[in-house]
Amino acid sequence: KLSLIPVVTFPILFGSLFYRFGKIKNTANRQRSNEGRIASRLNEVLTAVPLVLAFGQQQYEEQRFENESAQNLEQSVRAARLEAAATRTVEIIGALGMGAVVLAGSLQVLKGAILPGELLIFAGYISNMSRPIRNMAKLSIQFSKARVSAERIAEILNIEPEIVDNPNALVARRLKGKIEFEDVSFDYGDGNTVLKNISFVVPPGQRVALIGSSGAGKSTIISLILRFYDPKSGAIFVDGVNIRDYQLESLRRNVGIVLQDSMLFGATVRENIAYGKPDATMEEIVTAAKAANAHEFIEKMDDGYETLITGQGKSLSGGQRQRIAIARTIILNTPILILDEPMRGLDGENKEKVEDALNHLMVDKTCLLITHDLEAAAGADITLTLRHGRIFAHGENAEVHLLRNR
Ligand code: ADP
Repeated sequence: KLSLIPVVTFPILFGSLFYRFGKIKNTANRQRSNEGRIASRLNEVLTAVPLVLAFGQQQYEEQRFENESAQNLEQSVRAARLEAAATRTVEIIGALGMGAVVLAGSLQVLKGAILPGELLIFAGYISNMSRPIRNMAKLSIQFSKARVSAERIAEILNIEPEIVDNPNALVARRLKGKIEFEDVSFDYGDGNTVLKNISFVVPPGQRVALIGSSGAGKSTIISLILRFYDPKSGAIFVDGVNIRDYQLESLRRNVGIVLQDSMLFGATVRENIAYGKPDATMEEIVTAAKAANAHEFIEKMDDGYETLITGQGKSLSGGQRQRIAIARTIILNTPILILDEPMRGLDGENKEKVEDALNHLMVDKTCLLITHDLEAAAGADITLTLRHGRIFAHGENAEVHLLRNR
């Protein structure tokens, strides 16, 4: 009968813990998302330090960070309190159970039903039995917290990329570079049509200039060729094969890209040039750098090709960064090239050198050049003028001359 007493306390113990688990879980959840928010905010502000300083917003950012940290602290204290309360519950229920055993046992002793020594030994057994159960209860509190972290990890691992290889995808070896858009329409999922019924063909080795005002959809066309997104309707073919049927990585290996204001990595100049081809020999790297008009200034740097680039290359001029980026693309020798305003913001000698480097890069390649510079567009075989996501003019260079003369 006496041993029934502690047994009765177990459901009370786990019932009250179960009630607390929900609260502990919610708080741990809030704590984790708060931490995530603080980390991304910190990252954003640290990368934009010059902007924060230029706008004189140090105090504002400091205040904002303090507020968010204070919130986080509050959540942490709440979590610690909940955990302590749960541990306390375990101890109190355990102690009450033991008290009840001693009380009931003492009454039995007074009645002469058992000896005092028997009660003592029995109490010892009960205490031994309840210790591991209490420990288990405390462990379950830790477990409910760990479950929140595990769920967040699982959430991230379960994210399915939207663009996946189809099961029978072809591995694209070296492509010739014929690009064909067939009635392609696209939106970013927000209901605004970005491209509408776009059709054009670029024979291998030809240059296309994509012109049109900002927001017309030029960069979107390029994102579709790289398959960052799939068209909502219509299809894109490279060398006559729908790009959905190529293995994604093999398709992208055939496309070289130079953007405006290229980003360099925090590595040596040599590693930056060989980024897409880590096994490139020194000779290949130097040849690429020479073709990109970069060799001369690289040689003059403190450690030449072994100079470490810091701060995303901000210590170099825009033109020098572009020439390293062009060398990085030259070395890949891809049949298709995408150039997104590669000369924007450059002038004088810098522009000439980059232009010359690009001319080396573009030889015998299918090129898509986004440009506002009508001079550059005039050098293309085909011009596509986009307006509000539609092809407004499609033609030979004459079109560009017309535009220029307007
Ligand atoms: P362009 O390169 O000609 O300046 P874009 O292709 O960048 O034009 O943009 C075309 C339109 O698509 C714009 O209206 C732009 O706001 C919208 N857009 C671009 N990227 C996204 C995106 N990731 N999500 C939603 N809308 C976008």
